[in-house]
Amino acid sequence: MPKPTVVIAGAGLAGATTAEQLRERGFGGRILLLGAEANAPYIRPPLSKEYLTGQAERSAAFVHPEGWYRDNDVEFLPESVAGSFDGAAHELFLAGGARITFDNLVLATGASARKLTVPGAGHGAVFTLRTIEDSDWLRAALAVGGRRVAVIGSGWIGLEVAAAARGYGNDVTVLGSSAVPLSKAIGAELGSVFEKLHRDNGVEFFNRASVVAIDGDDDGPRVVVTRDGDRIPADIVVVGVGATPNTAVGERSGLSVENGILVDAAMRTAVEDVLAVGDVTNPYLPAIERHLRNEHWANAIAGGTVAARAIVGEHASYDEIPYFYSDQYDLGMEYSGYAPLAADAEVVYRGDVDAREFVAFWLRGDRVVAGMNVNVWDVNDQVQRLIRSGAPVDRARLADPGVDLGDLVTG
Ligand SMILES: Cc1cc2nc3c(=O)[nH]c(=O)nc-3n(C[C@H](O)[C@H](O)[C@H](O)COP(=O)(O)OP(=O)(O)OC[C@H]3O[C@@H](n4cnc5c(N)ncnc54)[C@H](O)[C@@H]3O)c2cc1C
Repeated sequence: MPKPTVVIAGAGLAGATTAEQLRERGFGGRILLLGAEANAPYIRPPLSKEYLTGQAERSAAFVHPEGWYRDNDVEFLPESVAGSFDGAAHELFLAGGARITFDNLVLATGASARKLTVPGAGHGAVFTLRTIEDSDWLRAALAVGGRRVAVIGSGWIGLEVAAAARGYGNDVTVLGSSAVPLSKAIGAELGSVFEKLHRDNGVEFFNRASVVAIDGDDDGPRVVVTRDGDRIPADIVVVGVGATPNTAVGERSGLSVENGILVDAAMRTAVEDVLAVGDVTNPYLPAIERHLRNEHWANAIAGGTVAARAIVGEHASYDEIPYFYSDQYDLGMEYSGYAPLAADAEVVYRGDVDAREFVAFWLRGDRVVAGMNVNVWDVNDQVQRLIRSGAPVDRARLADPGVDLGDLVTG
């Protein structure tokens, strides 16, 4: 009997984790890992942090050491682009015309950086940041120092790039569409903590800004122009305005797509034997009884692990609490929880917000639905336990650093 074949389309963290977890769980069949890029799978968080700042080697970004794929009998096929599939025939069609038969197909095609469409967005030295090559180029440009850097977008990636750019001694201006940076992710109150961090480090902000053009030429940008008529001189422009899920393979093949490919809690699509993982998905989370798209590193690992479990016939359910982290200057933070439930929720602080050493908790009623520790370490597990328990908490005790968070979990 021929061995079963799992084809994984997309060789990022989610695809690589699926392959790794299949082997960990004793899958003895064939594994093909197809990647559109020339590189072996790598992780992206360092691309706006320690690799971009020059504190880490490029090689540290790769998911597995060289040789891992061969040693684990995973056939990694770089520069192989999946086009569509036929679920009934169990066939995947590659962009070049080749077809591959599968027993299970895992779509792990990730997301792409959203581009600006304003005039001038295609000039030289206007960067987006998604691939390791994007980070190579940006790092080389920023490392020169003494240049005027305009960052368009005041989300996580925009702010991390701003911090890296300041680290190389560049002048940095951040232009964001919201009134306060990061307000979509963590609310205006906490976003302002990050804005102050950046202002304290010499970054200038244009909030509620709408960029309408980038003046310049092939050699680079000169001025970023806003709808209000502001003209911000710039030698380098970095666009960090979000990412769009790469759903084309799913869409061409008839999968349901709503803000990502819809998958159940076992990462299964509506087509039998076809699963999807990572940034491209909008998975169902049983804990909150709804779908939640979550473009984060931990979600790629969790989804890849759940999909591998489902394929080998283990109990498979996405039960992880969404988690991500950020590093900017001397500030490190971790966030755990359900962002949609945290929107407009009450925030309770423990610690010193002005000193940027605190834990913020988002409460719906008396229950913690999200938590963020800022320059406070070794509490994330307890924060997650608190969220998972759903236990009602006393606000005064939650805010009191003298009370062990573990005691709140048990009531
Ligand atoms: C600069 C940056 C910083 C980040 N920082 C953080 C952070 O601090 N914390 C955090 O939690 N998350 C962070 N993230 C998000 C995190 O990196 C993503 O959630 C994660 O990469 C998702 O992994 P993935 O495998 O689903 O997708 P991807 O990493 O996007 O990988 C998908 C791969 O599939 C390939 N592909 C696409 N289409 C096809 C096709 N048709 N056929 C074959 N291959 C295809 C793509 O080329 C890509 O290589 C960051 C992201 C970026 C860009």
